[in-house]
Amino acid sequence: MKLQDIAPHRISRMSEKGYMDPHYIELPRIILVGNRVAKRIVKVCEDLNIQGKVLVLTGPTTHKIAGRRIRERLESRFETSLDIVNLASRAEVERISRAHGGISAIVSVGGGKVIDVGKCIAFTRNIPFISIPTAPSHDGVASERVSLTDGSAKYSERARPPMAIIADLKLIRNAPYRLIASGCADVISNYSSVYDWKLARERGEYYSKYAAHLSKLAADIVIKSAELIRKRKERGIRNLIDAVISSGISMSMVQSSRPASGSEHLFSHALDVLGSRALHGEQCGVGTIITSYLQGQDWIMVRNTLKSIGAPTGASELGISKETAVKALVNARKVKDRYTILSEKPLDWKAAQDVCRRVGVV
Ligand SMILES: [Zn+2]
Repeated sequence: MKLQDIAPHRISRMSEKGYMDPHYIELPRIILVGNRVAKRIVKVCEDLNIQGKVLVLTGPTTHKIAGRRIRERLESRFETSLDIVNLASRAEVERISRAHGGISAIVSVGGGKVIDVGKCIAFTRNIPFISIPTAPSHDGVASERVSLTDGSAKYSERARPPMAIIADLKLIRNAPYRLIASGCADVISNYSSVYDWKLARERGEYYSKYAAHLSKLAADIVIKSAELIRKRKERGIRNLIDAVISSGISMSMVQSSRPASGSEHLFSHALDVLGSRALHGEQCGVGTIITSYLQGQDWIMVRNTLKSIGAPTGASELGISKETAVKALVNARKVKDRYTILSEKPLDWKAAQDVCRRVGVV
């Protein structure tokens, strides 16, 4: 059996010395970033030696913006089929899988849901997956993770990173600003998750300096580019998409969401369970204000950066009550078995309320 025939998560094991042995890393093969690069889709498929039928997945809105055009381009060279993704759920994955047989590659053109569903089906079928994000709303654009919902429960699982990412700046720059701001907040949250990872390292958990630095670098770049992003300057959006991709790669390097998901993500997951309808990145951004305060990091810088970008910094902007924010903070450490600042400093209702007030979240 060849190495590539084995599911990566089955072959890498943490050694007693704290490194993975063997260390298996799967990364995207092509990353294309630039203005109007989506029109190079046929060339990218040819470079990947794709033959046979290509399934294009897109969303109801993104179909009109880009999905239809990309399918038309593909049709000039490949047999294609198209489907509209409405939800990132297991049921939707199964529906689309049943409807489209004999496909040899999947191209997702859209936001997080479209990318997650495409990534999941491609992983199950072991076929190439190409990600064409229309918005940088979170770091799933390039990561090996998929996030699916079943009823009220959301869960994240491992798949495989896209074989190619085509980040068309023309498309992404025109995305609704709320999605851009949410993507920034998701990357800024690496500031808190890397700190948590270091705490876990002290307790013997596997830690990769390379992945941690890459994840932190992504956050730093977004923080420094806040002004340019707010003005939708090309340089700012380019820095953001580079950061979103780097953040995804840092997770693929260690086959875990660890580099980009710590206590602030636990807070966001706890909010999901409580029925919050805010965007993932928005919730993580608010979580980062709280957790960087608990970590003794520069939470004021985090809050000011989020403010300058135009991302939420408090419960009311997330559309949740003060009680929900406090409850999520109390519940966060129970959401997942992951060592973070919240394991080190467990908060009861009174302490959580106090922290939320101190950092201006409630
Ligand atoms: Zn995230």
